[in-house]
Amino acid sequence: MTTTDRAVAAYLGLAIGDAMGATVEFMTPREIAAKYRIHDTLTGGGWLHLKPGQVTDDTTMSLALGSSILAHGSVDALAAAHAFDAWMRAKPVDIGNTVRRNLLQFRNTGNPEAPCSEHDAGNGALMRVLPVALATLNHSEDAIRAACRAQGHVTHNSSLSDAACETLVFMIQDALLGREKNHLLHQHAHPLVTRHPEFKFRGIRPSSNPSGYVVDTVQAVFQAFFDTDDFRSCLVDVVNRGGDADTTGAIASMLAGALYGLEAIPDVWRNTLNADIRHSCEAQARALIQLADESAKTA
Ligand code: MN
Ligand code: MN
Repeated sequence: MTTTDRAVAAYLGLAIGDAMGATVEFMTPREIAAKYRIHDTLTGGGWLHLKPGQVTDDTTMSLALGSSILAHGSVDALAAAHAFDAWMRAKPVDIGNTVRRNLLQFRNTGNPEAPCSEHDAGNGALMRVLPVALATLNHSEDAIRAACRAQGHVTHNSSLSDAACETLVFMIQDALLGREKNHLLHQHAHPLVTRHPEFKFRGIRPSSNPSGYVVDTVQAVFQAFFDTDDFRSCLVDVVNRGGDADTTGAIASMLAGALYGLEAIPDVWRNTLNADIRHSCEAQARALIQLADESAKTA
């Protein structure tokens, strides 16, 4: 399996997880079970009244970020801020409160770095981090961390968001390079918990109804990802926990896509995904990996 195939699978995973989770976003596990028994389709609906296979901000902000990286030739805070601002002007179907507030601030100040605030520890920077993982593959660790912060701080300047973004990027990159799940667990997930015990995800109750708080999101994603063995089970597990299900779905399945690869993604999900989104994700994944290859020698 090539790195590029894994990158395409990660990007499709992001969009599929977003589309599937959005149907049950803000529902409790009990409400989901009563309505669907198990929710495992891209049927749309939900509080946003989506069409089947339609995605939300998690995917469209990632695509906006990815386009800015490709146009600029690297991850750049100002380019990302302009791309997010244009994205917001185009009236997306949903937008997080912290994203809106700090993009409006950017419009006023022109400063692409949001003020540091530990209250801005939502999952909004984490959900769109995939293009950074692809564009900085095989770059130096310092360059990768700097790129994570540049994109994240446009809207979320918080140490917990930073820690989650950097950990997820390193996990995705190791998966893209063919490392095993145990390596991701011991090299990245456990060390995150050592540095920030808030993220502890073992020895606690299964995370249910996870909120948009980045800690809740990471706990649900890690439990679903590390306690299942394939793409399908991982995604179905996490979205049926409800809560911020489009975002937990997006993050869990970008990781699962990178690890398990294209063959692991059920055809029916790939084919139900909105066709324009599917093509954009595939094309961007390839272009970002190519950019990473070209720039790795100098970064
Ligand atoms: Mn969303
Ligand atoms: Mn969400």
